[in-house]
Amino acid sequence: MYTDNHNHTKHFSSDAKMSAHELIDACKALNMRGVAVTEHYEGDYPHDIGEPQFFDISVFFEKTKEWTEYAGDLPLYKGIELGYQKHLCAFYDDLIAKYPFDSVILSDHLFDGKDPYFFRQCYGEDMIYVYTRYIEEMSDMVENCNNFDIVGHYDYINRYAPYEHPQIKYSQCPESFDRFLAAIIAKDKCLEINTRSVDKMIKNGHSDVLPDQEILSRYYEMGGRNISLGSDSHSSDTLCVHFPKVAEYLASFGFTENSYYVGRKRYGEPLLPKN
Ligand SMILES: [Zn+2]
Ligand SMILES: [Zn+2]
Repeated sequence: MYTDNHNHTKHFSSDAKMSAHELIDACKALNMRGVAVTEHYEGDYPHDIGEPQFFDISVFFEKTKEWTEYAGDLPLYKGIELGYQKHLCAFYDDLIAKYPFDSVILSDHLFDGKDPYFFRQCYGEDMIYVYTRYIEEMSDMVENCNNFDIVGHYDYINRYAPYEHPQIKYSQCPESFDRFLAAIIAKDKCLEINTRSVDKMIKNGHSDVLPDQEILSRYYEMGGRNISLGSDSHSSDTLCVHFPKVAEYLASFGFTENSYYVGRKRYGEPLLPKN
């Protein structure tokens, strides 16, 4: 019984395969407590992939009326996943204020101005150098933008990394992680634990697949309590993927709640079932 805070549908995210009805059906089959639809919105996306990476937000809200009706008892939260670039912060802050979103994820899909999904050359550099720069940019992102709730997949950079042990770790750049985590806590934002990243690590044959324990223990030690689970599903077979295992892992550090947002206000549901 979880809320999955990060999902895409084919109606507004060009890389997603599931329809909203497929998403809702899957959530009901899994007896989920709630689900957020968080479509991609990338201003000035640097790659021409034949489809726009943003959408008309008023059309989205119009569409969600029918989805909400179809969802019935299942809470369906209206979110968005913004793609960060420094010059877009003020634009995003204004844009988000115009619409009744439940939750706003802010993510960084770029390294050196390009998406590592398309631009694998970035991994030609030394791993620690690449990861340090990525976490520094994530820190800039949290410090520069204001109108968002959740910091998306801090580990996006290791999803496509060809290194032998690609898991991003606190020990690789402790000062950068301290800056990043401090910014999240100071701005009262939420650190996403993205289980699509876990899934990718498993599928790529790695054994070290869960988020680095030092990142989590450091966040907790600094006062961070706000975390959210997101499967980042693009198809209906990965909703809540690995949630029970990851929730148990998070609870072992002292975290007690999976955050979710309604009307931009944070709520918490227990990470572990109450006995
Ligand atoms: Zn993303
Ligand atoms: Zn996403």
